[in-house]
Amino acid sequence: MKTYRITLLPGDGVGREIVPEAVRVLESLGKRRGRCFEFREALVGGAAIDRVGVPLPDETLTAALEADAVLLGAVGGPKWEGLEYAKRPERALLGLREKLGTFANLRPAVLFPMLKDASTLKPEVIEGLDIMVVRELTGGIYFGTPRGVERYEGGERGINTEIYTTPEIERIARIAFGLARKRRRLVTSVDKANVLEATELWRRVVTKVHAEFPDVELRHMYVDNCAMQLIRRPTQFDVIVTTNLFGDILSDEASMLTGSIGMLPSASLGGAVGLYEPIHGSAPDIAGQNIANPIATILSAAMMLRHSFELEDDAAAVERAVHRVLERGYRTPDILQPGMTKTGTREMGGLIADAIA
Ligand code: NAD
Repeated sequence: MKTYRITLLPGDGVGREIVPEAVRVLESLGKRRGRCFEFREALVGGAAIDRVGVPLPDETLTAALEADAVLLGAVGGPKWEGLEYAKRPERALLGLREKLGTFANLRPAVLFPMLKDASTLKPEVIEGLDIMVVRELTGGIYFGTPRGVERYEGGERGINTEIYTTPEIERIARIAFGLARKRRRLVTSVDKANVLEATELWRRVVTKVHAEFPDVELRHMYVDNCAMQLIRRPTQFDVIVTTNLFGDILSDEASMLTGSIGMLPSASLGGAVGLYEPIHGSAPDIAGQNIANPIATILSAAMMLRHSFELEDDAAAVERAVHRVLERGYRTPDILQPGMTKTGTREMGGLIADAIA
């Protein structure tokens, strides 16, 4: 039997509560479907700073690189906020992405029908919502040089550089078109080609790569229009592919359409090892109280099964288990509605683990 090696990085705050629930679900899946998962835990973020003085210790990096996939909780919290930027817990995320070479960030925004009233948008606008945002993760303005703040005769000036190369655009475009093939076969490429030359190149290269995927439809959209369309008629989108900066903003916007940050998973792919994590942070305001929603992390584990292990049926089984538990009316406080059963983090994890068929 194949052993799937998973490195666990619970990190800080609620990360320490939700990662064990995803493990519980994977173990239940393993038992029922005959899969062997091997878990290895390592330090990251504030927990690593406290124990060994740095947010991303070498041993953690090694444990990540030696795994078949990595499941991360969250990092950060008020305790480490005074530290200088390079030593902050959040630096571990950039370091991990860079060292693992995960250039594609996948963020699905899917509406669970039974939660449609939790969104701030009208139910009829979000009915059937199922978007996959593919954000370029290791290039663009977050990494481009020159950068910094420098003095000039009039005072100071801040500089950042948006930079994309043909190979960087080609590889992210291929990921987006490949994903669209398994979905509704529509890619919307988002840029600001009317103003930014770097994204004029983006549009040209995405159009060229599209020729390899004639069965997928390609649309181009300016980022300002996309921000508007996501609120106006979000169901027009299937896969959205965009730059690091635009993807950062649009993926948050898309995720809020569904109403709860505690429900949304993510995957970072493209390198040797995939990195899976909920989109939310360490939620220090609710940490340690057994009230955090573990579903985003459990769904991240489902993405791991699908994208790193190619166990599509197992991924779907986890997703169905989540649906089933929600249909039965169980809710953590963040998604609680009148008439539903209030459930803690551990109880929710246990219910989903038990619901795996
Ligand atoms: P956050 O996502 O941690 O929390 C925002 C709000 O959502 C809070 O009210 C929180 O209680 C709630 N929330 C988050 N996850 C939840 C869950 N699973 N269940 C129920 N409610 C949940 O964002 P923040 O408060 O801006 O940041 C807190 C810390 O997390 C900061 O140190 C920040 O830097 C860090 N952070 C880390 C990551 C990451 O590790 N990937 C991402 C974002 C923020």
